[in-house]
Amino acid sequence: MSKVSEVRDKLYRYVAPNYAPLPFVPRVAKGEWIYGLAEGNDGSDGWRAVLDLHSNYSATGLGHNPPELVDLKIKRLKENRIVFISRGAGMIEELAVLGERISHLSGMDMILPKNAGTEGFDLALKAARLWGYKVKGIKENRAEVIVCNENFHGRSLAATIASSDPRVKERFGPFGAERAFRKILFGDLKAFEKAINKNTAAFIVEPIQAEAGVIIPSEGYIREARRICRENNVLFILDEVQTGLGRTGQLFCWQHGGPEAMPDGMMLGKELGGGMNKESVFVASRQVLELLTEGTEGSTFGGDPEGCAIALKALDIVSEPSFLNRVEALGEEFVQKLRTIEAPIIKDVRGKGLLIAIELVPEVNVRRVWEELFRAGVLTIKRHNAIGFSPPLNINEHNLLVYGFNKIKKVFENFSPA
Ligand code: PLP
Repeated sequence: MSKVSEVRDKLYRYVAPNYAPLPFVPRVAKGEWIYGLAEGNDGSDGWRAVLDLHSNYSATGLGHNPPELVDLKIKRLKENRIVFISRGAGMIEELAVLGERISHLSGMDMILPKNAGTEGFDLALKAARLWGYKVKGIKENRAEVIVCNENFHGRSLAATIASSDPRVKERFGPFGAERAFRKILFGDLKAFEKAINKNTAAFIVEPIQAEAGVIIPSEGYIREARRICRENNVLFILDEVQTGLGRTGQLFCWQHGGPEAMPDGMMLGKELGGGMNKESVFVASRQVLELLTEGTEGSTFGGDPEGCAIALKALDIVSEPSFLNRVEALGEEFVQKLRTIEAPIIKDVRGKGLLIAIELVPEVNVRRVWEELFRAGVLTIKRHNAIGFSPPLNINEHNLLVYGFNKIKKVFENFSPA
């Protein structure tokens, strides 16, 4: 039995089948390259180098094992620096510095650390309700939060209830808290204004709907939504778990709308771990986060010294203006090149910075295209009806614009939908 089929058998026997991975066993990774075992046409295994334009949905946005972060991690471990300690047991210096740094970079006041992006969503929801009751004066148990159709805020039960995707909800009910959310069309400001009532605590929205296929709202949407929230005493909260930390060519995606677009709160995750850890934070105004006093919220691992030290280093890299300018320019060039591909299966090409998607015509099976791309040596993201590209932000230009592009072009041009 080949190693790949051995791993497949064990995975399907001992691990829930909630993912259907490519026939690939990744072993080693550096920068934008992943090396692993793949099955050849004759069924035997061979080593394969794959260009990573997936970046674990942006979580390895600085590439795999980025040298600065690896060095930092090794140095800290060699010095026996503390890895974990409860936030209740000691005052974590790295966390204090991370809070200060994110506050300076975002213009918001404070952070509350978690681990995964979806925990950030749950926390934002809870914080918004708390603010609704304690500050806005909403009657107990009446608070509502507005979210958008086709959103993706993760896999917690709250995020599941907030979702409009029947595939993730079917038979996971009952959803007693369904009325806690009002769902509106993404990008529709009129619908948003109409959905607001005296019980609305917050509007939680992704500035670009990445998982839905990189849906980019019209220019000014985020700024206008911000204005409407302010005028109606509703918290404006952005889920920047995937769009944040440089992915779209600004440190935070809302910054494309200028300083007036600044939200009351935002969630960051994925790349905050620098591809080495799992870190997320909810960043918000003092008025919101000060309400979360001792015992009301917490996390065993969130805010750990090592994770915060690595997050600080990752922030140093992605907040450099020259780094962000490069992301914007490289993304623009890549999108322009993708638009030159002539293939009947392509419906649209769109992107902001290095968050990019090719939408396919509805008849095409996305998985088949995704698998073909992998066979050609390029790892991409399978999104609803689109192939997504989220390359490492520091990817080598030639690898993206020449090596990767040529392979993508060939696959699209030769793809036969039949
Ligand atoms: N929010 C957004 C916008 C995301 O894209 C994701 C993950 O893809 C999440 C939340 C959930 O993050 P996690 O998988 O770390 O819980």
